[in-house]
Amino acid sequence: MTHVVETPSTAAPSRTGTSVKLVGVIKDYAGQRALTGLDLEIEPGEFIALLGPSGCGKTTALRALSGLEQIDGGSILIDDVDVARTPVNKRDMGMVFQSYSLFPHMTALQNVEFGLRMRKVDSASRRSRAVEALEMVGLSALAERFAHQLSGGQQQRVALARALVTRPRVLLLDEPLSALDAKVRVALRDEIRRIQKDLGITTLFVTHDQEEALAVADRVAVMNSGNIEQVGTPEELYLNPATAFVADFVGLSNKLEGTVVGGVVTVYGQPLNVLGEVPLSGAVTAFVRPEDVMLADAGLPGTVVSTSFLGSLRRTFVRLTDGTIITVQHDVAERCELGESVSLRFKGRPVAVAPKQ
Ligand code: ADP
Ligand code: MG
Repeated sequence: MTHVVETPSTAAPSRTGTSVKLVGVIKDYAGQRALTGLDLEIEPGEFIALLGPSGCGKTTALRALSGLEQIDGGSILIDDVDVARTPVNKRDMGMVFQSYSLFPHMTALQNVEFGLRMRKVDSASRRSRAVEALEMVGLSALAERFAHQLSGGQQQRVALARALVTRPRVLLLDEPLSALDAKVRVALRDEIRRIQKDLGITTLFVTHDQEEALAVADRVAVMNSGNIEQVGTPEELYLNPATAFVADFVGLSNKLEGTVVGGVVTVYGQPLNVLGEVPLSGAVTAFVRPEDVMLADAGLPGTVVSTSFLGSLRRTFVRLTDGTIITVQHDVAERCELGESVSLRFKGRPVAVAPKQ
């Protein structure tokens, strides 16, 4: 058996700057098209969140990129090299999945060492690199524990260390946090982000949780029915959604009936500019953010049906006289009581519109 001696530093990026390009990728499952010509470019060192509802094709896209799934059309380029014929173990990618995939009969350390053993790295380097990778994810103290002696969050840290210890060019994470409770989820996502930045590793992070996507990613790719609707920074997606799907999926919106004439939509008698290009006229659904509605002295009359204190803000649901419920986000100092009569106004920020839903 030959042993490859490698430098012990896991903390140093393997190589800087790997680019990933998916170009017109098509994937069919028994006649059903799961990816319909998907295009996505990830810059070297960039952290992209692939966000979309369950069943839209996120896992398929990730598996296609990793080589776990053969594609039926299009191409995948890593550092501008087409990897169509490159098998999964030669694509040099680290993967973390939703379900804990640790080997139950191995300790945390042995789990992390496993990939290096497969690569025939000598035992001394293996050990020091695995120790270092566990340190990176804050688990040095638990190196000798078995999976059943670790919490879900700790197991995912081991899985992350295991993915990183081989110094992959690209890190792929498929809903790695969705089995964890809320607090652990937030702590671990921030930690993944920190490590990703430290290593400068090109990363694709799949999630159906829009808050998670907006919180961690450089850019978010919003996916719907086998394709990407929009790629943008969290701010771009939130403030300037390109499609109704994005407006609806990213952040909260009130979906209200409106009428478009010449780029202006009138909602409950109040004219609002329409975001982006406006191919529509006539009856539409307008997406009005809760923070773009305010409690006012005069305006649309309604009744408070619920109000909740969310720490830095208050969210209140108001039923209008036509039965429509509008969500308003407002200052905690503006108190309102259940059943109270209030008036609403739109602040006048531009809104996204879609054909009437
Ligand atoms: P997501 O990860 O966004 O929830 P998936 O990529 O898992 O979505 O699935 C996309 C679509 O492809 C779904 O309609 C799913 O049912 C289908 N699909 C996924 N894997 C297979 C498979 N191995 N065989 C057949 N259909 C599949
Ligand atoms: Mg999935």
